[in-house]
Amino acid sequence: MVNTSIKTTKSQEIFGAAQNLMPGGVSSPVRAFKSVGGQPIVFDRVNGAYIWDVDGNKYIDYVGTWGPAICGHAHPEVISALHTALEKGTSFGAPCALENVLAEMVIDAVPSVEMVRFVNSGTEACMAVLRLMRAFTNREKIIKFEGCYHGHADMFLVKAGSGVATLGLPDSPGVPKSATASTLTAPFNDLEAVKALFEQNPQEIAGVILEPVVGNAGFITPDAGFLEGLRELTQEHGALLVFDEVMTGFRIAYGGAQAKFGVTPDLTTMGKVIGGGLPVGAYGGRREIMSMIAPAGPVYQAGTLSGNPLAMTAGIKTLELLSKPGTYEYLEKITQKLADGLLKIAKDTGHAACGGHISAMFGMFFTAGPVNNYEDAKKSDTAKFGRFHRGMLEHGIYLAPSQFEAGFTSLAHTEEDIEQTLAAAKAVLSSL
Ligand SMILES: *Cc1c(COP(=O)(O)O)cnc(C)c1O
Repeated sequence: MVNTSIKTTKSQEIFGAAQNLMPGGVSSPVRAFKSVGGQPIVFDRVNGAYIWDVDGNKYIDYVGTWGPAICGHAHPEVISALHTALEKGTSFGAPCALENVLAEMVIDAVPSVEMVRFVNSGTEACMAVLRLMRAFTNREKIIKFEGCYHGHADMFLVKAGSGVATLGLPDSPGVPKSATASTLTAPFNDLEAVKALFEQNPQEIAGVILEPVVGNAGFITPDAGFLEGLRELTQEHGALLVFDEVMTGFRIAYGGAQAKFGVTPDLTTMGKVIGGGLPVGAYGGRREIMSMIAPAGPVYQAGTLSGNPLAMTAGIKTLELLSKPGTYEYLEKITQKLADGLLKIAKDTGHAACGGHISAMFGMFFTAGPVNNYEDAKKSDTAKFGRFHRGMLEHGIYLAPSQFEAGFTSLAHTEEDIEQTLAAAKAVLSSL
């Protein structure tokens, strides 16, 4: 690792070996630190708001395994419930009562969800919801937004070249043009662009899918009226509105963005928090639509490990902890302190910056902003972000290793953790 003051001998050794064993040395790309430079640290264990790496360094964590750890890593109640569940076996491949419990919790919490299907990841949930959108409407085209991530399925891997919003060009080799030909894209927060797509493709658009608050292009909030506008447009054109709440679900409010903003989509995808750190995804929505899923209806979707008792247990316990009074007030309080503090320090130290937070999700771009969509986000000084990221790491703060990822806080983060983080940011930003 270059220019580092922390001891990283073991991290280097393990990651070095990993590069011969797995592509890029990782099981998921962003973990490799490509966009911030330097080598990743290799984790040994996590607890509460903290990570320990294999060299014994401790960090305050703002990634939270990309969202699931909203109650803090290895929460004792989650671990204890998992121990009990483990004694009964790891997977049934058959109905289990725990599925009912988590299903009821999700249905009670998320306004759009009347029925739910559990899967194993957010990617799976989004793939399945796309098939369902098409089956229900008997239309093929969908609209997604530039910079929004809906997992790695072929149909979603589209970043429209500027101005070519209607030509779905695949982002990755191996994605056939035919897979993305029906994926139309528009800039986030641009209702006029969506309206134009509906007019250019009459009776052809199955629906609109979006991250209601974007986290996968950095943190970008919806403009006032944007979500409401999409709700109206989709209704007007007989299309479905789908909120991908894999990140925002149970994070920006217990009922997700739809509860926060009071806009109810037809279908919702979930993941991350509802698995409490185990592999879970889910999709749900109006009963009439969900009843089309096999075996109730003809739309096929299945999973060997789906609804497995360990994942259900971690999800149930996590939601129980989150539904206690005061949790979201606490998350809001500490995250506001962090996000406001970071922005103020950046400005005070002479850096162009903008950012914000909603509940336990935050972000800061190195550009004066405002950032309303992916084009704006790309104006950010990513080289500076790379140096900021490395500096924070050396000060014991673990941020997502990309400018284009949101940050996450948890119930385990204390005011002192936030103060320590801001002190580190002050030291690092003053030196950039
Ligand atoms: C993480 C994420 C996904 C993909 O979920 P995986 O569990 O990583 O497959 C999909 N949509 C959004 C909004 C996400 O943040």
